[in-house]
Amino acid sequence: MTQFVDECGLNVRGGDGAAGCVSFRREAHVAKGGPDGGDGGRGGNVWLEADHNVASLLAFKDHPHRRAGNGRHGQGKRRHGAGGDDTIVRVPMGTSVRDQDGALLADLAADGDRWLAAAGGAGGMGNVRFSTRHNRAPAFAEQGEPGEQRWLRLELKLLADVALIGFPNAGKSTLISRISAARPKIADYPFTTLEPNLGVVRTADDFEMVVADIPGLIAGASDGRGLGHRFLRHTERARVLVVLLDLAPVDDTSPVEQERVLLEELGAYRPELLERPRIVVGSKADVGHREPPAGAMCISAVTGDGLPGLIRAMADAVREARADGEAAGRARDVVVHRPVPEGFRVERADDGAYVVVGRAAERTVALSDLTAPGAWEFARRRLQRMGVERALVRAGITSGDTARIGAFEFEYHDDEDDFPTEAPR
Ligand code: GDP
Ligand code: MG
Repeated sequence: MTQFVDECGLNVRGGDGAAGCVSFRREAHVAKGGPDGGDGGRGGNVWLEADHNVASLLAFKDHPHRRAGNGRHGQGKRRHGAGGDDTIVRVPMGTSVRDQDGALLADLAADGDRWLAAAGGAGGMGNVRFSTRHNRAPAFAEQGEPGEQRWLRLELKLLADVALIGFPNAGKSTLISRISAARPKIADYPFTTLEPNLGVVRTADDFEMVVADIPGLIAGASDGRGLGHRFLRHTERARVLVVLLDLAPVDDTSPVEQERVLLEELGAYRPELLERPRIVVGSKADVGHREPPAGAMCISAVTGDGLPGLIRAMADAVREARADGEAAGRARDVVVHRPVPEGFRVERADDGAYVVVGRAAERTVALSDLTAPGAWEFARRRLQRMGVERALVRAGITSGDTARIGAFEFEYHDDEDDFPTEAPR
C-alpha cells in the first residue's frame, strides 16, 4: 500500500519541579522552632494525544516546542507548592513517535490515545523531611528536579480524507491550491514523474482535513491503462470522494457523461468505492455553461464562488466518516515500544573524569546547600544505597580520580569508607 508520509520534529519539555523550602517555626516564646519547610510542587507533564480533529503535523512545523508548567515553591508552615499544569499536545490519529535515533517509541493510533512524552520534574523535599535524631534543625532542602526534555520525530502516514476525482484539466490542482492552508512535505513518494498533490484544509472552527488531488485518472484506468491503477489505489483509503466535473470541457464531453465514465471506472476497479460518501461538483462555473448533473454543487476556483459551501460539505462528510471509522476501531491501548530508560550509568568524560549520568543520581546531590551540616551525609548515604559507588568501581575508578554527578564534583578515595565523607567545597 502506497502511503504519503509526513514528518516533523517536536521538542517536548516537562515542567521543572520547584525547590523545597527551608523554614523554621516561629513561636512567641521559642527562639528557634523546629523545621517546617514544605515540599516544592512537581512540574507538569507533556502528553501527546491523538485527536480526530487534527489531520496534519502542520502545527509543529513553525512551532516545534511544547512545554508544561513549572511547580510552585514550597513554603513555611509545611505548605507544599502546587504542581505545574500538564500540557496536552494534540496530534493526528495514526501518528508514530520516534526518538532521534529513529527507534519507535509509540503509536497513537486511535482517537484519545495518550502517551507521556516528557515527565515533569519532581518537587524538592522541604527541610522538615530531613530532620533526624542527629540533626533536628536541617538548614537545607532539596532542589526541584528539571523536567525531562527531548526531541522527538513525529511521523504521520497521511490518509487523504478527501480524494478529488476528475479528468485531466478538470481543475483539481487549482481547487486544491485555493482551499488549502498549507501543503505538507511528502517523503517516500514512489512515483517519479507525477506527484499526488496534497493539501491540508482548515475550517474556521479549526477542523483539519487532508485533500488529495490524484492526477492521471483517465477512461480505462481500471484495466490498468497508463498509471491508472496506482492512482485508483490512493482513492481506496480516502473517506470521502469529490467528483469534479468540468463545466467548460475542451473536448465537449458533457458533465453528465464525465460523471458516468468516472463512476464506471471507480466501480470497475473496486465496487465498494461507489459506496463511499461522494460530493459531485461542477468546476469552472465562471466560464462553463454546460449543465451539471442534478444535485451537483457549482464552484469556480478562480473567482472563489461556491468554495465556502464546498468546504463545509466536505468537512461534514469527513467528520461523519471519521466518527464511523472510530466506532469500528476503538478502545485500543497505546502501543509503547520502548520505555524511557531509568536509573543511571557511568560514562567517561574527555578529561578522564567518571561521570554519573541519570536523573535519580543527579537528583540525589541536588540539595540546596551541600555544605550545610548533615546535607552531604544524607546525599552520600542515598548514593550508596542506589549502587552509585559500586558502579563507579566497576567502571574502573581508583583513588584520586575525579567523579562528577550533575554540577557536583568530588575526588574519589577508596581508603576512607569507599566514598568521600567530607562535604564538598
Ligand atoms: P487538473 O488537471 O484537474 O489538475 O486541472 P488544473 O487545476 O490544472 O486546471 C486546468 C486548467 O483549468 C488550468 O488552465 C486552470 O487555470 C483552469 N481552471 C481551473 N479552475 C478554473 C476555474 O474555476 N475557472 C476558470 N476559468 N478556469 C479554471
Ligand atoms: Mg493537476
